[in-house]
Amino acid sequence: MSTTHRIESKVADTPVNAYLIEGERQVVAIDGTLTVSGGRAVRERVEAIGKPLAALLVTHAHPDHYGGAVEAIAGSEAPIVATEGVDAAIRRDDQAKEELLRPMFGDEWPAERAFPTRLVEPGEELAFDDIELAVRDLGPGESPHDSIWWLGEDRSTVFSGDQAYNHMHCFLADGHWESWLANLERLAADLPPGVRLLPGHGDQAGAKLLDWQRAYIERFVGAVRGADWSDPGRAKQAVVEAMASYLQADDLRFLMELSVDPVAGKLGLSEPTRS
Ligand SMILES: [Zn+2]
Repeated sequence: MSTTHRIESKVADTPVNAYLIEGERQVVAIDGTLTVSGGRAVRERVEAIGKPLAALLVTHAHPDHYGGAVEAIAGSEAPIVATEGVDAAIRRDDQAKEELLRPMFGDEWPAERAFPTRLVEPGEELAFDDIELAVRDLGPGESPHDSIWWLGEDRSTVFSGDQAYNHMHCFLADGHWESWLANLERLAADLPPGVRLLPGHGDQAGAKLLDWQRAYIERFVGAVRGADWSDPGRAKQAVVEAMASYLQADDLRFLMELSVDPVAGKLGLSEPTRS
């Protein structure tokens, strides 16, 4: 029977989770956080557990999940494991993320990022002694390419990445919210009753969190659509205010703010912007 550990990194007010699965003889990490400190915290927890790191699995193609991996695996032989789609999107977008994140996070954004070194097929099952995992490849959604990892034979625990944030503001700037909503609908139908979601941001939750996420996405897109884009500055402010009163939490608010212009661009309401 394995134990899961959550490592929450909060560098620069950016809460993001990595997880460790502690088996009898080895440890498997899920995601690497965004930062140097976050990745080091993962590695230090592995050292405190006192068992070797067998692998680091990446849920999806966003920098707050793979950026710190280079630090998390330092000094180990652990491969970084992802689906082909997640790997390709990370490699494609890493330079753009460098340009976005270096000014925001300085040296906390690792100077060099580590990319996946072992690719898995959609649906592939992996075993590290008694730790059994299976990947579900989801394609575009919250990020340009998402996946989730099921733990154990009964699949009652899911490392759900950013399919659902636990009551924090969300990043929609990649513009794939329609497939994200479709993924959420399919997952809600497929998850076993009593499933435990271990999300990329916030506390663990049950399947109901997927409903919360759907409502948040719909509210955000509705707010963008409903704003008066004849004045883009005021339109953006109106969306941010609407979402701030919808979810009265400051966590990850900057991700939501970064998403307003790209979503408006995608909807044809304003000049297209790069995310
Ligand atoms: Zn995230």
